[in-house]
Amino acid sequence: MGRNVKPETGITTHPQVIAAAIDAFREAGANVAVGESPITGVTMVDAFESGGITTVAKIRNCPLIDMDVRRYVTCEIPAGIAMKSLKVCREVTEYDIIVSIPVMKTHMHTGVTLSVKNMKGCLWRRSKVDFHMLPQLPGHEEKPLDIAIADLSSVLLPHLSIIDGTIGMEGLGPSAGKPKPLGVVLVGVDAFATDSVACAIMGISAHDIPHLRIGSQRGYGVIDIDSIAVYPQNWKDVQDTFVLPPEELSIEFSGFTVLDQQSCSACQSTLLMFLRQYGQQLSDSKSDDKDITIAIGKGHEELPIGTLCVGNCTAKHKNCRKFVSGCPPVSSEILSMFNDDRSSPHPE
Ligand code: SF4
Repeated sequence: MGRNVKPETGITTHPQVIAAAIDAFREAGANVAVGESPITGVTMVDAFESGGITTVAKIRNCPLIDMDVRRYVTCEIPAGIAMKSLKVCREVTEYDIIVSIPVMKTHMHTGVTLSVKNMKGCLWRRSKVDFHMLPQLPGHEEKPLDIAIADLSSVLLPHLSIIDGTIGMEGLGPSAGKPKPLGVVLVGVDAFATDSVACAIMGISAHDIPHLRIGSQRGYGVIDIDSIAVYPQNWKDVQDTFVLPPEELSIEFSGFTVLDQQSCSACQSTLLMFLRQYGQQLSDSKSDDKDITIAIGKGHEELPIGTLCVGNCTAKHKNCRKFVSGCPPVSSEILSMFNDDRSSPHPE
């Protein structure tokens, strides 16, 4: 729910799924609240409103928790490899039962985003961004982001997962993909198993999703589809293959030169999204007609002076040029770099 978008875009959870969940838990005798922490640059008040959550909550007199304005508690991760502690909204530790209600989506950085990864929404403010700022871990092939999500799941697993596949998203998820109407809602008590079944419906093996594979190997849940009891028996009838995020993107944008040497899809898609969102505006505000040069990927020997280096793979060049850290980096950090010093990214 942490984005300022309308319902039925496939980006945020459908308000009717939230409404049904509130009603079902109330009927079972629970005191229910709905909480979320938004992405950077969005306020939860706006996101609740535009996503239709304010309306369904108001009708039901159900409290909404803006996790960004509440106090946080620090939660240690004894088994953490990439993350050793988390800042978690205090209410998450106080309620008896936490239910994760994500949309069924592919994700350009993590393959899919389902009920395990959705728990990032319990993190306080910009501490969510820390997951994208981690260096590659020596001795680990997986991206630090995937290892960090598995770390998170060692201390922050939902008690129940409800995956909203009424309208999912395929391709360049979590927000630039195509809505995928499926008319399906999945419910499960093992978040890894529920995500694994969602993956199977999407035509994806959970073993190919790094954070699910790492977490299941550590024993946080089951992803082997043959070991999971799924009802009804004919559940495979709803299978409908989702288009995966592209492995490689060709990034061309007027006013920009993108130097890409051995980058991965996470940096490519972040940069593509960034340029789609801010490229025109930045290009229009240039003081000259020279292209803005941006580099991604680990294969650069030399870069033109003034190149904006994006992502930890370009870190070796950061001492002499503008640099945005992150693996993958996040759009808001790239934009901050332009706002800090608009002239620097231009070739000199
Ligand atoms: S290309 Fe970007 S996302 Fe991929 S490993 Fe390098 S910094 Fe990380």
